[in-house]
Amino acid sequence: MRHARHGLPRAVLVAAVAALDAAGLAVLATAPVLASAPLGPSRRLYANGAVVVETPLAPRALLALLQAIEHDFGRVRRGRRWGARTLDLDLVLWSGGAWSDAALTIPHPAFRERAFVLGPAARIARDWRDPLTGLTLGQLRARLTRTTRAPSAARRRAR
Ligand code: AMP
Repeated sequence: MRHARHGLPRAVLVAAVAALDAAGLAVLATAPVLASAPLGPSRRLYANGAVVVETPLAPRALLALLQAIEHDFGRVRRGRRWGARTLDLDLVLWSGGAWSDAALTIPHPAFRERAFVLGPAARIARDWRDPLTGLTLGQLRARLTRTTRAPSAARRRAR
């Protein structure tokens, strides 16, 4: 959603990448920002991005840093659930393979089904491999695209 200081979602993401850099993470690659439709009841479009960062921080320390940045950008609560949010930062993959504890799971549990994650991420890390399926980000994205197109292909064959 629009941010009082940074403006439209696309500009929020640009500011977020600057915040990662200012926090001491080495930003090695930045994906183009892609828009996606919301999953829930909100009618706003989301802006989605991905970065590759290098850091000596362990996963939990990195998550804490990402959450501090999310907090700095603010988050709006509407009704009983979190509504449109200003900024959501997730850890999708890291170089250490699979990792989890009570608060954090890497790879992110839902990323394989999310085109809005795989779209930007595959643009900058196409050959990174998901340690659980053995598939690269490029392959996971292609699989998702095929799955979402399958019903119309089936309809064409049925005619
Ligand atoms: P959400 O704001 O809906 O993305 O959920 C954030 C919560 O998910 C955080 O408080 C984390 O403890 C938890 N979490 C689990 N795995 C991850 C991950 N890979 N990246 C970010 N948050 C995660």
